Amino acid sequence: MKNAVLADQVAPLLEDLAALYEDLHQHPELSFQEERTAGIAAQRLRDLGYEVTEGVGRTGVVAVLDNGPGPTLLIRADMDALPVTEETGLPYASTQTGVDPDGATVGVTHACGHDMHVTWLIGAAAVLAEDRDSWSGRLMFVVQPAEELAEGADAMIADGLFERFGKPDVCLGQHLAPAPAGWILYRGGPTMAATDSVKLTLHGRGGHGSTPEMTVDPAILAASTIMKLQTITSREKAAADLAVVTVGTVRVGTKENVISDRAELGINIRTFSERVRQDVLASIERIAHGESHSCGSPRDPDIETIHAFPALVNDPEATARVSAVFTEHFGEGRCMEGPQALGSEDFGAFATAAGCPSVFWFVGGHDADHWLQAFAANRLAEEVPYNHSPKFAPVQDPTIRTGVETLVLAALEWAGKSA
Ligand SMILES: [Zn+2]
Ligand SMILES: [Zn+2]
Repeated sequence: MKNAVLADQVAPLLEDLAALYEDLHQHPELSFQEERTAGIAAQRLRDLGYEVTEGVGRTGVVAVLDNGPGPTLLIRADMDALPVTEETGLPYASTQTGVDPDGATVGVTHACGHDMHVTWLIGAAAVLAEDRDSWSGRLMFVVQPAEELAEGADAMIADGLFERFGKPDVCLGQHLAPAPAGWILYRGGPTMAATDSVKLTLHGRGGHGSTPEMTVDPAILAASTIMKLQTITSREKAAADLAVVTVGTVRVGTKENVISDRAELGINIRTFSERVRQDVLASIERIAHGESHSCGSPRDPDIETIHAFPALVNDPEATARVSAVFTEHFGEGRCMEGPQALGSEDFGAFATAAGCPSVFWFVGGHDADHWLQAFAANRLAEEVPYNHSPKFAPVQDPTIRTGVETLVLAALEWAGKSA
């Protein structure tokens, strides 16, 4: 296949892909509940001639196409949505609700663009299935559940992904980003941060709100701990050691005239290196103990890991190959090195488990003119909704065709007959 004809191969698919995208967008499903989405992806891949297996890692789908000797490529899209109520005002906005793991009814929205990821994957699967003369090898398309819980990739691997379907020579994936639509951002080496979420329980001694002298007030203990935690990144780590410590939840007490006996803090940590990660975790433990001691707490604090997943590290050589073909195809104006992102991804788990290189890049989806105006006015934060925002509203064109073309180009870089 000549890349010059790629746009012509994608063009006839676009009307159908737009309809698929809007349908997925209107029917988002929470992590590990992606039954409908998985069913649609499986049926479409089957119709394209792939050998499809459903229920891998609970709701995951694997679609394989053998096409002669050559490398095995794992190409992945995640498919879960978020417990967010959509506020985009789009004609195809989600009005769905779902039940979260705590049993609460919540609005559900594709606020991270995983509906776009599935659409891209189906488009690329169609182009490559249609044009089997242009490549040789084995395609393994993976439609992954529960990325937002950082559990889906591990669930598929634990369900025998590589034993049942073979080990890949390279893993390829992409994410929708709040960059101008049609732009592609790549980066070799550490690209997305490691995440740790911990629950910190601080112990006080409860009592009556009128007699604080009889108590150890965990609200005060929580407040001083939260403030002290902010000195980890500002005072304990070098400015070059990227790290974020966020206290996202604070729970103390049930009534204004009751002093509670405990405070619970939900803490989220983002880091890029294992050394910095271990340092930050140790600092949190030290500060929690120190503040508890200083407040006269009757018990040491309890620290519990809620979830942890590693940094996403792109193979530098594989990234250079992908970025070279993207730049040749799309031009330098649309392809550039992106920043390290403090967001996190479980995509890296596939390559780590398979022992092969991986590349994960970003495709912009925000209206390009509006993005450039906002950038010039230094108003990106106010005007361009980030992933997970209830207002996250990608434009379909050229976002859909760009993401289909990037996946096909990357696949051909490894399996193309002229490669
Ligand atoms: Zn997300
Ligand atoms: Zn995402």
